[in-house]
Amino acid sequence: MSRESSAIGQQWSGIRFQRFRTESDESKRQLFIRTNRNDLLRTIFALRNTVMRDRLMTPDKLKHIYGPVFSRRLGHSLGIDLVPFKTCTYDCIYCQLGRTTNKTIELKEYVNVDDVFNELKHLLSTRSDIDYISLAGSGEPTLNNQVGKLIDKILEITDIPIAVLTNGSLLWMDEVKQALMKTDLVLPSLDAGAESLFKYVNRPHKGISFKSMVDGIVDFSHSFPGEVRLEVLLLDGVTGIQSEVKKIDVIAKRIQPSLIQLNTASRPPVEKFALRMSNDQLHELSRYFTDSVEVISDNEETVLPASSDRVVTQDEILALLQRRPCTLQGISSGLNFHKLEILKLLEQMDHQGLVKVVRKDGSTFYEFSNK
Ligand code: SF4
Repeated sequence: MSRESSAIGQQWSGIRFQRFRTESDESKRQLFIRTNRNDLLRTIFALRNTVMRDRLMTPDKLKHIYGPVFSRRLGHSLGIDLVPFKTCTYDCIYCQLGRTTNKTIELKEYVNVDDVFNELKHLLSTRSDIDYISLAGSGEPTLNNQVGKLIDKILEITDIPIAVLTNGSLLWMDEVKQALMKTDLVLPSLDAGAESLFKYVNRPHKGISFKSMVDGIVDFSHSFPGEVRLEVLLLDGVTGIQSEVKKIDVIAKRIQPSLIQLNTASRPPVEKFALRMSNDQLHELSRYFTDSVEVISDNEETVLPASSDRVVTQDEILALLQRRPCTLQGISSGLNFHKLEILKLLEQMDHQGLVKVVRKDGSTFYEFSNK
């Protein structure tokens, strides 16, 4: 029990109960009632303040770090959010996070990296099951101009590999390219093979041309000592057709990644016309890539063993859902906790209005609700 809650317990137990048998005791009785009522009010206020303080403190604990999330690409990865929600260079039609609210190419310290580092250090002291530390989150992480400083600090305290999930749009900037050089794995995206579909699918900031984006990824890939995996997200009827895939392959050959990972819109996309593809369609199109390729949406439903030595809190679930909608399986895998236990919490949270249930393409997703 925390020091605060034990203090509250003493206040509750300090409320006295007494019988008053005669009328001459009336003044004593009135005094006693007033005293007791004041004790009771003080106790209620203390309890309310403790609950409110806990509510206010909890998001701070989880402000920049989330997970570990079981990602299709990285196993158990501890995610680091380096920009505010939907601060991005793109506004992709398939984005699962909604429309970009701050479309920018301005590099700055959107999030204080010393705060991020302190959170990370604390988390790493409590977890031993992390496969990757991932710079990712709810926008484009390379927009944070202190990302290189954070990487240096992480390297001082752990050997856990560092991955960067980036849309690749800023790798033509020398400052961004240099900042990522000491990481282990960079996963840029390439969703189109020509300018027109790039603009249609990714809706980039006007300061980013298709050529600068592609040249930046190619140049980075050739000078980066670590591993580059290229993520290609295909949409049915748009980029998920043979002629477009062949154009993407021409650019992929210039990039020379260790692996091409084919993906599709897998959660409710921001635009209804961003249609997901079936695994069969992705496998069929994977034949048009020259280099090593895998379809990763197959692995989404991998079940992990449940852990029995800890409890999951509503706050941990909310921290995940504030970044993206998840299926029950996704939450269970991300928090490494049994689905039935998660389901119980989700049902409570649904009743409390903390989450929304959305059905999409035959799957049920849970979304953060800020009603
Ligand atoms: S999918 Fe990624 S790159 Fe595209 S808008 Fe969303 S956060 Fe930005």
